[in-house]
Amino acid sequence: PPDQSPPDPSKKTLVILGTGWGSVSLLKKLDTENYNVIVVSPRNYFLFTPLLPSCTTGLIEHRSIMEPIRNILRHKKAGVTFYEAEATKIDYEKRVVYISDDSEIKGDISHTEVPFDMLVIGVGAENATFGIPGVRENSCFLKEVGDAQNIRKRIMDCIETACFKDQTEEEVKRLLHMVVVGGGPTGVEFAGELQDFFNDDLKKWIPEIKDNFQITLVEALPNVLPMFSKQLIDYTESTFKEEAITIRAKTMVKEVTDKHIRAEVTNPDGSKAIETIPYGLLVWATGNAVRSVVRDLMNQLPAQAESRRGLLVNEYLVVNGTENVWAVGDCAIANYAPTAQVAGQEGAFLGRLFNTMAKSEALEKELENLSDAQSAAKGDEARNQILDEIRERQKQLRRNKQIGPFQYSHQGSLAYIGKERAVADISWLSGNIASGGTMTYLFWRSAYLSMCFSTRNRVLVCVDWVKARLFGRDVSRE
Ligand code: FAD
Ligand code: NAD
Repeated sequence: PPDQSPPDPSKKTLVILGTGWGSVSLLKKLDTENYNVIVVSPRNYFLFTPLLPSCTTGLIEHRSIMEPIRNILRHKKAGVTFYEAEATKIDYEKRVVYISDDSEIKGDISHTEVPFDMLVIGVGAENATFGIPGVRENSCFLKEVGDAQNIRKRIMDCIETACFKDQTEEEVKRLLHMVVVGGGPTGVEFAGELQDFFNDDLKKWIPEIKDNFQITLVEALPNVLPMFSKQLIDYTESTFKEEAITIRAKTMVKEVTDKHIRAEVTNPDGSKAIETIPYGLLVWATGNAVRSVVRDLMNQLPAQAESRRGLLVNEYLVVNGTENVWAVGDCAIANYAPTAQVAGQEGAFLGRLFNTMAKSEALEKELENLSDAQSAAKGDEARNQILDEIRERQKQLRRNKQIGPFQYSHQGSLAYIGKERAVADISWLSGNIASGGTMTYLFWRSAYLSMCFSTRNRVLVCVDWVKARLFGRDVSRE
């Protein structure tokens, strides 16, 4: 089908913001023939985030976990329009989204507006910094492809700079100190991947760094991975100890400069002290914050006044205080953790809901036509025949309208912790299985491989794993 087909005036215009887990799962399920579908996202690809930490060390090449949105859309039954742009403002009263092309190359028009009848917001979240001074200027985040590339480049830059002629010992130590702030799954997985990189490749290729390379994970709470069971937290902490990754728990970062972090440490006796920790690379992984376009919409809606962390939605994912606006994934607050699992299920639910809504509308239209035909029909037999058809359609309509609210089904939590070990809290029947170790790691690998978007992604990821095993990771700094 043509990509930019003109809108059909008999259909509603459905605008979908974002090409992440929520929006793409919706697109996969959606029968695009029912609506004029427009997708707006600054990213013209879907990103398989669970394997993003592996891109920071070059274990996996970033293109292996990207799927072009154009490839997804071209397989849909009816044409879908895609604009590579950022939604800068949603005007709910006017039912319009303002969009802006923020890419390097701009045409004569780079700002415009897109009217909608129905809107799905799946723009994800921003990196939380809690307004801590110096974080944005000095640290790397780990959310997008560009972040992973940036980290990969900086790891090698720190190492090569540490190896510079006559570098002082103190400076070598600082440059080779890799600090990760945030002991959630992002921070833990990154620390594990980085230590693997050091053990598998860096130590062999650049032996002169081996005594000074050090990874520290800084966490404000008493332990890492708070969403996992106690047994797996202990397992992760003991694995990190074996790997020589230092965990600094009860340590809250308060300020960041270009070479140091300043943190408030809670001592075992409860007293507090400020500590200055030098770093070469700083990766900031302290969770999610609300995007400005979402915050602006929240300010337009009195029903959102109480919300701080994102758009409050009802059990059908309708944004509270609106009609015909839905939110999915990290930007929606529906009492679930902000994970790909939740976003994916929410998107798929909306896909089914919209298909059902379109079917109901078609049935209602048919019923209207049938009742007109019934009034115009001559003779009892013809009228009764139409009446039978009306009853049948009414039955179908009732059945169709019975779609229940969104229900999340938790499949479990999985995280890689390095040293070919993973931790998993898996929901099994009505219970829970907690497991950690090498078998869990093999399960982690196969689970993520099967979840990859396409066969192409699966093959590329496998090839990357084999390549790294055969030749080691590539340590050249691009
Ligand atoms: P995203 O997937 O972030 O997508 C948001 C989309 O909106 C993007 O396409 C973005 O470009 C677009 N966008 C942004 N701003 C705008 C705008 N103004 N206008 C239009 N579009 C916009 N979860 C798990 O369940 N398991 C895991 O193993 C896991 N691992 C992770 C590893 C890492 C490193 C990270 C960062 C996250 C991980 N997560 C994992 C969490 C998971 O990635 C998120 O919960 C999930 O991506 C949320 O989906 P989403 O659709 O809401 O947002
Ligand atoms: P998170 O919110 O899970 O964890 C952030 C951590 O940073 C918290 O433990 C918090 O106490 C700590 N923190 C906050 N401010 C701090 C400070 N100033 N100093 C020190 N520590 C501080 O964030 P995340 O790991 O980025 O994950 C975000 C979401 O993505 C979560 O819902 C997570 O479940 C999901 N995710 C899942 C996986 C997985 O399932 N394997 C992987 C990555 C992310």
